[in-house]
Formats: sequence, structure tokens, C-alpha cells
Amino acid sequence: MSSILKLLLTLLLVFQSIHSFSQNKVAIIGGGMAGVSGAQFISEFDPKAQIILFEKEAGLGGNAQTVVVKNKEGKLVKVDIGPQYFIEGPWNDYIAFWEKTLGPNPYESETVDASLLIQRKKEPKPVLVSPLGMKLRGEKLGKLLKLKRFNKEAYEMYKHPEKWRGITVETWVNQLKFEESYKKEIIYPFLAASLGTTVSEIKKTSAVDIVKLFAFRKPKASNQFKVMTDGMATLIQRIGEKMDPTQITIKCSAPVIRVVQSKEKWLVTYSSNGVEQTELVDFVIFATHADQTAKIIKSEPNLAEVSKSLKHITYFEVKIALHSDSSFVNTEKPSFLNIITTDSNELVSSTMNLSMISDRLNGIYKSWASTDAIEQLKRSGKLLHVTSFWHPLITTDFVTQLGILHREVDQFPSLYLSGGWSEGLETQNSAIISGKHAAEKYKAFLSKVKK
Ligand SMILES: Cc1cc2nc3c(=O)[nH]c(=O)nc-3n(C[C@H](O)[C@H](O)[C@H](O)COP(=O)(O)OP(=O)(O)OC[C@H]3O[C@@H](n4cnc5c(N)ncnc54)[C@H](O)[C@@H]3O)c2cc1C
Repeated sequence: MSSILKLLLTLLLVFQSIHSFSQNKVAIIGGGMAGVSGAQFISEFDPKAQIILFEKEAGLGGNAQTVVVKNKEGKLVKVDIGPQYFIEGPWNDYIAFWEKTLGPNPYESETVDASLLIQRKKEPKPVLVSPLGMKLRGEKLGKLLKLKRFNKEAYEMYKHPEKWRGITVETWVNQLKFEESYKKEIIYPFLAASLGTTVSEIKKTSAVDIVKLFAFRKPKASNQFKVMTDGMATLIQRIGEKMDPTQITIKCSAPVIRVVQSKEKWLVTYSSNGVEQTELVDFVIFATHADQTAKIIKSEPNLAEVSKSLKHITYFEVKIALHSDSSFVNTEKPSFLNIITTDSNELVSSTMNLSMISDRLNGIYKSWASTDAIEQLKRSGKLLHVTSFWHPLITTDFVTQLGILHREVDQFPSLYLSGGWSEGLETQNSAIISGKHAAEKYKAFLSKVKK
């Protein structure tokens, strides 16, 4: 063979290997923060990968849903009915993601004082009310100092989680040195409202993971949260619009029905306008909730163990209502979060007074509310919008199974299960971290393919 021919053959082989590297097809199932960030991170790492992002709903966002409602003055305003707040520190990956993808000052934001009130429904005075803007308004100092001591205990656990792994909230609270009445009246309702669930459910959750929700920072006299003026979902959709359509195909209203192995690849079956379609892909990422992932993989026998582990991840329903009924809050002692309980300290509702974010949200309240409360709002004509969400209940079993699940998935080089829940505690920030982990798995897969 002539040396020129040899050179041409070598060049052809090099070209083919580059070509195969660049032609990888990646399916991402789920267009929430985890799926969208996963698509973004993979496209940055491998600009030639062909990514298909499947979303069952008509638009991107997932739990992040920005809705338009009328304020007290009758003006239309945007409100996040699902995830809404973030702060620097615990949400740094989230903040960095927007700056990287949308440029400097990617959003306008408003801040709110994270003030708290706990009150029994039939009693005129609150059991606990925290200062507003660092100002005491006749609050009982003794109760505030106790709340600070409770926060300190939580912060200690947050900083040194090792010895608390596998411990439920109930076991942790039992050994805290507070009177039983304080635990029932304040600690449990506060913890339940943090997750948006009932007192009995919160007792079963993993203490270490739940304290993360409010112990991210050293207890301070005042904490402020940030809220995006345009809404979290609006921004996720802006990312989708900016994505290069020659590299990332976004398929909305395209629920994935099943995923099965096909030799070295994955066959993804989805529905489009009621018609089943398929895509054969090299790498697949699930950015869906655990129960939805279990349904999609149930016909793949090789994933039977993964499916079994996914079933341990239980969800509870969270109904969130936007309304204009001021009886859900204490108007004399304004606080951002208003937790209303029964005589026996069970949660009735937990309401954010959105007027305290800005005047534009004047007269709008966002409540975690029981079905009865929602019916009552409907009858009074004060209901503006209601949505059902499904939230993972982070029990100690959930945490153990998550570890097992990650080890099982590790055995499949071209598969990753992402989603906020897959990092333990679910936030928009953890969803981004899961998107990064999906991209890392893809990088490891590519390095194997290249060999
Ligand atoms: C009421 C509420 C309030 C919250 N508040 C906050 C907050 O203030 N701050 C914060 O950081 N976090 C908050 N969270 C948590 C936050 O919403 C989640 O962590 C985050 O949305 C998880 O993102 P994800 O992409 O993992 O999942 P999701 O946002 O749930 O996205 C999953 C996507 O998968 C899609 N999907 C499902 N099945 C299929 C299928 N078969 N085919 C195709 N697509 C499918 C779904 O339609 C959805 O779009 C809150 C959550 C709730 C419920």
C-alpha cells in the first residue's frame, strides 16, 4: 500500500472516530430544572451531541409554574405557584446557572423578610410571632429565644450530620430539651409547614434532611429570601428559547411511554399528537420523579432492580392555592409565613402573604391548604388559582434506598437518573446539581466510547 493511501486510511479512521464521538444521541426525559440544566451542561461539554429533551406538558418548567392572576387593584401580575424563593449560599449553583446561561443580571428580583407566625385557628392571639424587619412588636422574648435555641440545635445537626443519619424527626425532637407543649405547638407545625405536609407525616421524615430546609445558615435575627419578579418558570422557558435547535430538540406535549434496552442503545417510545413514535439513543437521562421513572422503565427486565428501589421513594400531594382571602393571615401582626393550626396543633393551612414581597402582589395569598379550605375559597369566589404538586417524602427509608439506587444505576454506563429528588432534599438548586451529575456521567460514558 502506498504511503499516501496509508495516510488517507488513517485520516479516515480518525475522522470516523471523531464522527462517532460527535454523533451521540442523548434523550433527556423531563423538562423541569433538572432536565433543562442537564441538556445545557451536556451541550456545553459536547457541542456535537444530539440532545432530545422530552416534556409531557405543553411547556418547560416542571414544578416551576409561573401563573398570571389579578392583584387587589385588578392588575395582572406574575406569581410562582410552585417553587418561588431562593437565597445566596444554599442556592449558589442556581444563581450561577442563570448568570452563565443568560448573562450578567439575568433576572430582576425582590426580597422578603422571612418572618413567621403560628396561630390557632380559633384564638385571637398568635402562639408565636417573629420580629418584622428586626423590630419587636410586643413579641414574647422568651419564646423567641427558645426558637433561636431550636434553630441552633438544628444548625448543629446541619453542620455535623454524621451522627444523625437514619434518625427520624420524631426521634430527634423527642430528645430535645424543650417542654412537650412547645414541641407540639411550635416545633412540629413549623417543621411540617417547611415541607408542606402534615405533622404526622413530618415525624416520619429524615431529621438531617429536613433541617436543611431552614438551617442552611447560622441562626440570625433576620433572614431574607429572594423572589424572581418574572417567575422561575419564565426563566426556564427563556433558557429553552435560547437553546440551539440544531443541537437540542425540545419536544413538548411528548410524554415518554417506555424506555427499553436495544443492544448497546436505548429505545425511547413517546407519544406525539396521540401517535407513538420512537428514538434510538446512545445515552438516556431520566429527569422525572421517581414514580414516573418507575412506570417508564417497567417493561425493561434489566432495570427490574432499579424499578424496585424507585418504588421506595414515596410522594405526597401538595395542593397550593392562590387567593385573595385575608382570613388566612394575621393582619394585625403581619408576617410572611402564617401557620394556622387546630386546637390539637394539627396544620390547617400555611400561607405566604405575598403583599409583603412587593406592592405589585398586593392582596394575593399563597396557601398550602386542605381540600376543605380550597372548597371554601371556591365558594367565596376568592380562589385565584389552584395546582396539585407531588413532593417526595424524605423518610429514612428514602435516604437508604437512594444510596442503593445510585449504586444500581452505576452499573449502566449510558443511563442516569437525575431530578432534584435524586440529590436527597428537593430544591431548584439540587435539581441543577443533578443536571451537573448527569453531564458528568455522560462525560465518563464518552471517555469509554473513545477508548
Ligand atoms: C409547592 C412547592 C414549593 C416549592 N418551593 C420551592 C422553593 O421555593 N425553592 C426551591 O428551590 N424549590 C422549591 N420546591 C422544589 C422544586 O420545585 C423542585 O426541587 C424542582 O422543581 C425539581 O425539579 P426537577 O426538574 O427535578 O422536577 P420537576 O420540576 O418536577 O420536573 C419533572 C418534569 O418531568 C416531566 N415528566 C414527567 N413524566 C414525564 C414523561 N413520561 N415524559 C416526559 N416528561 C415527563 C414533568 O411534566 C416535569 O416537567 C418546591 C416544590 C413544591 C412542590
